[in-house]
Amino acid sequence: MYRDSLVFGPDYVRAIAPYVGGRPIAEVAREFGLDPEKIIKLASNENPLGFPNSARIAVQEALADLARYPDGNAFALKQALEKKFSVLPTWLTLGNGSNDILELVARACVQPGQGVIFSQYAFAVYALATQAIGGIAKVTPAKNYGHDLSIMLSAIDDTTRLIYLANPNNPTGTWLPPDEVASFLAKVPSRVVVVLDEAYTEYLPQAQRGNSIDWVRRFPNLLVSRTFSKAYGLAGLRIGFGVAQPVLTDLLNRVRQPFNVNSLGQVAACAVLDDEDFLARSAQINAQGYVQITDAVRKMGLEYVPSSGNFVLIKVGKQNAGAGMRVSQALLKLGVIVRPVANYDLPEHIRVSIGLPQENNIFLDALTQVMSQMPAGA
Ligand SMILES: *Cc1c(COP(=O)(O)O)cnc(C)c1O
Repeated sequence: MYRDSLVFGPDYVRAIAPYVGGRPIAEVAREFGLDPEKIIKLASNENPLGFPNSARIAVQEALADLARYPDGNAFALKQALEKKFSVLPTWLTLGNGSNDILELVARACVQPGQGVIFSQYAFAVYALATQAIGGIAKVTPAKNYGHDLSIMLSAIDDTTRLIYLANPNNPTGTWLPPDEVASFLAKVPSRVVVVLDEAYTEYLPQAQRGNSIDWVRRFPNLLVSRTFSKAYGLAGLRIGFGVAQPVLTDLLNRVRQPFNVNSLGQVAACAVLDDEDFLARSAQINAQGYVQITDAVRKMGLEYVPSSGNFVLIKVGKQNAGAGMRVSQALLKLGVIVRPVANYDLPEHIRVSIGLPQENNIFLDALTQVMSQMPAGA
């Protein structure tokens, strides 16, 4: 018998608004009767260069062993990470995507009723990870769309156990200078764990990158998370990692599922860590696409938030709360998938991932067409 009046689980779980990702190409093709080959997806900050060849070769070899469980300790990958970042394996936690790491740290460090701080417009997973374990989210007001570190500091109270910082942040693309992050870390009480989410760090020019691995050596309450989903091009394989001192790393590994990172992800990540060429091309095509998109958007008379990631947040409405959704829907009909961000409390914006030059062109043409059809003053 079906009864929709049944109520399961804690209130804080039922209160979660499910994560809505970028629409898959196949789904948009079905819904609008479009040729999937002609659809451009710029909605999930994926790498426009596609799956790296180095990873493809490694994955093909590893197919033969898929009847076996993955290495739950990821020995080879931890060795490769040690070589690249000079951190011991006891400082590393592997995740099923870095989202897994973001969630593990909440489960390991926060009890129901305890406080978690993150900024307005910060990455959506922070709120989800907090709510799933009954943590109390304290969302601090943004400054120019970015994190306001002094307000975040002053939000710390006796109940606070965790702070999430995204640098650069998604969906805003805002970036915090390393000296500001370092002085923030020095002021946070050591009983409060700080997660520094560096999903887009590989896109920053070298001079703008903080030496976050060094900060981990100085601050026992710091966890740095990185991903293979963006600049490394492995989003579909779900792999990311966290770096923290052994005490914190040990806690994360207690709540981690023993086989959370699959074998194909492990071999692909090992291969691509050495693929300096792919990483350099990712950064280069991104820098080029950023100029292409922002130049054109400026000429269209639209505002955008300067971005340090592989995406741009564009304002497509003025005092028009539904503009982001309407423009996204109109772009979908033209076969261009971007991300509306009303769920981030940014109802007048869209977020577009930076694609290949020809994809950016198709997006810009479609956006020009859609904006010319929007009601005047909208
Ligand atoms: C994309 C993204 C991640 C990475 O997610 P994965 O689970 O590693 O694919 C983490 N943080 C932010 C801010 C992101 O935008």
